[in-house]
Amino acid sequence: MTATRSATVPLLDLKAQYLPLRDELLAAITRVCDSQHFIMGPEVEGLERELAAYLGVADAIGVSSGTDAILAVLMALGIGPGDEVITSTYSFFATAGCVARVGARPVLVDIDPTTYNTDPAAIRKALSPRTKAIIPVHLYGLCADMDPILEVAREAGVPVIEDAAQAIGATYKGRTAGSMGIAGCFSFFPSKNLGAFGDGGLVTTNDPALAHELRLVRNHGAEPPASAPADSRRGFGAASPKPQGGVGGKYFHKRIGANFRLDALQAAVLRVKLPHLAAWTDARRANAARYDRLFDDAGLAGRITLPVEPAGRHHIFNQYVIRVPDRDRVRARLTADGVSTEIYYPVPFHLQECFAPLGYRRGDFPRAEEAADSTVALPIYGELSAEQQAAVVAAIARALSS
Ligand SMILES: *Cc1c(COP(=O)(O)O)cnc(C)c1O
Repeated sequence: MTATRSATVPLLDLKAQYLPLRDELLAAITRVCDSQHFIMGPEVEGLERELAAYLGVADAIGVSSGTDAILAVLMALGIGPGDEVITSTYSFFATAGCVARVGARPVLVDIDPTTYNTDPAAIRKALSPRTKAIIPVHLYGLCADMDPILEVAREAGVPVIEDAAQAIGATYKGRTAGSMGIAGCFSFFPSKNLGAFGDGGLVTTNDPALAHELRLVRNHGAEPPASAPADSRRGFGAASPKPQGGVGGKYFHKRIGANFRLDALQAAVLRVKLPHLAAWTDARRANAARYDRLFDDAGLAGRITLPVEPAGRHHIFNQYVIRVPDRDRVRARLTADGVSTEIYYPVPFHLQECFAPLGYRRGDFPRAEEAADSTVALPIYGELSAEQQAAVVAAIARALSS
């Protein structure tokens, strides 16, 4: 009993990441406080440049959350009532919630049962003349099978919006998540691989016109007309290819947008963390490989289903999700043994109360339903020790043998 107690393993230990960077982070926060420049400005612009370079995209636009990243793209593309957007039934709520939020209809599709990602064949079947966009989800940090998805979208003439909230730095055949569709949506929620000290998000795009529209949408559509006095156009005119949506255009609104701005304080924190992201991802990948070995050594590889990394894809392991028999009982045993786990996600979108008006029922998407009932996410953060991982595997072995 004491042995299992001492093996307490949290799902995520953000403090372990924070402590070695504490001085640098506090200095960055102090820099913003001393400048009193809290909205947009050099920290946000700096982060946007650094992330565009890291992700290999032409443009990156900081926004207030991953949810708002998706919402901003849908608004910038003019998607609304009467339109349909195809997406996976199995993701974090924001993916489909944002579609409904702009008044469009989420058309849900099932997942590929081996990767849990949006199934390209199911997308093709869900197309209609009203389809205005496709949102594949790079779930858990593994890119969806993008070539067939991009092919379906190209044939149908509709844009692909990548929900890359869990997949910063993941790649597919050498291309980064967020660089393959018309836009990529990222989240800096603290539990993501690059987490802020609060909410934050990012949209990436290689389309200059969409980038311009996104900068408008992010800041209440503010952009002064050509006839406005010169000083209200500061930072906007043709001389400035990247209007930052700062104070200059405050009271001239070209379109309806919202306040989707990223805080300078969050940008400053993220700029301290970004140089470590690749190493943190490597640590997660090494931990995933260690779990694979430990499960194999324990003779469990045949009883549980481990995550896969198809050829040509680089998984960033935001989550390490396994299928396990009798999941709820096993999970309760793990909790009793001090091992924290989570279920991502227990209820697919088609069974959510708020989406009842869409008319789906149980049985419509059996692969997502099976995943919701049988999967569990294990601790996978980079600072997790080999001893902690051994304790997790031992606890699962005990739970399965009792
Ligand atoms: C986290 C997440 C979001 C939303 O991001 P927030 O920053 O929490 O708003 C969207 N989609 C997926 C798949 C996510 O994991």
